[in-house]
Amino acid sequence: MKRESIPLLDFLRDAEGSILILTHENPDGDALGSAMALYLFLKKLGKNVTVGCKDRIPHFLDFIPHAEEVVSIPDGKFYDIGIIVDSAGFYRAGAEVKVATRIRIDHHVGGEFYGRYDYIDPKSPATAALVYELISAWDEEKIDQEIATCIYTGLATDTGFFKYSNTNEYTFDLAKRLVHHGADPNYVYRMFSERESINKMKLIAKVLETLTLYEDGLVAGITIFDRFFKETGTEYSDSEGLVNYPRSLEGVEVAFALIEKPDEGVWKVSLRSKVNVDVSKIAERLGGGGHKYASGAKIKANSHDEALSKLLSEIGKQLELQNINK
Ligand code: 5GP
Ligand code: MN
Repeated sequence: MKRESIPLLDFLRDAEGSILILTHENPDGDALGSAMALYLFLKKLGKNVTVGCKDRIPHFLDFIPHAEEVVSIPDGKFYDIGIIVDSAGFYRAGAEVKVATRIRIDHHVGGEFYGRYDYIDPKSPATAALVYELISAWDEEKIDQEIATCIYTGLATDTGFFKYSNTNEYTFDLAKRLVHHGADPNYVYRMFSERESINKMKLIAKVLETLTLYEDGLVAGITIFDRFFKETGTEYSDSEGLVNYPRSLEGVEVAFALIEKPDEGVWKVSLRSKVNVDVSKIAERLGGGGHKYASGAKIKANSHDEALSKLLSEIGKQLELQNINK
């Protein structure tokens, strides 16, 4: 979208009411980075703004400037404007919020639409890039080191630190501008990737025991049983990124991580593709969504076997539809 034609910009410029910025549940670097950048910017402008999230900020994101200001939702309060970032819809917040006007800033394919102030571009490498476009078209001078760090975190983490297929000339150009504004690539990498706990390593060891190949090696998956968290003293947020292990195998086109969530009676699936398969189609048929190369859904099932067979059947269908054979 052209910088000078972002209707949301004019809307927010004139907005006088209370604003709630939301991330999806179990926030990742792009969700929290985008939310915090927009929050810090609007606060600088003197707006009445709050940032909310259903879940506690995970350790790997606690370096994001002012992350401790995120409020836990639902908070029972009413807001004039609700802006959800990096999410296919308000349902992804995972909690009820009371807002008069709903707005979405996102780079996912499809999802819910709330009207002309939505700022959605599936071609954008990260939601944080859209937040940058919005802020820079408004007042580039206000981008300080903290705001640049938030945006850089979103961009870097959603591109796998500049190696996924959403890494292109624009991505590097934006990264350059963020570094110019004070973002420190080495600092963000160290904070995000090099502060693991021994317990997380023990979790990884257990999870790798479950690694299994399907479809003659085109598909690889891991399972993270809830008991693994208890046995290793870890928590759900420690499962972030583990799907990259099955994806890293030679010959694998589709990788998945199936994570037990007994409190919700579901199995969360993270899906990843390397080159050809559109995993967003698989996720959509399972009631979720995402991007061609990274998607997710929650599968309602009473057992691991049931969840796995639902998942494998949808993966098999997609491989067939796209005519993908070994
Ligand atoms: P992850 O596997 O890392 O949780 O998510 C990969 C991508 O799929 C992200 O862009 C995420 O927003 C999206 N995604 C994950 N879970 C769900 C879900 O339950 N519903 C929808 N619509 N998208 C999801
Ligand atoms: Mn994102």
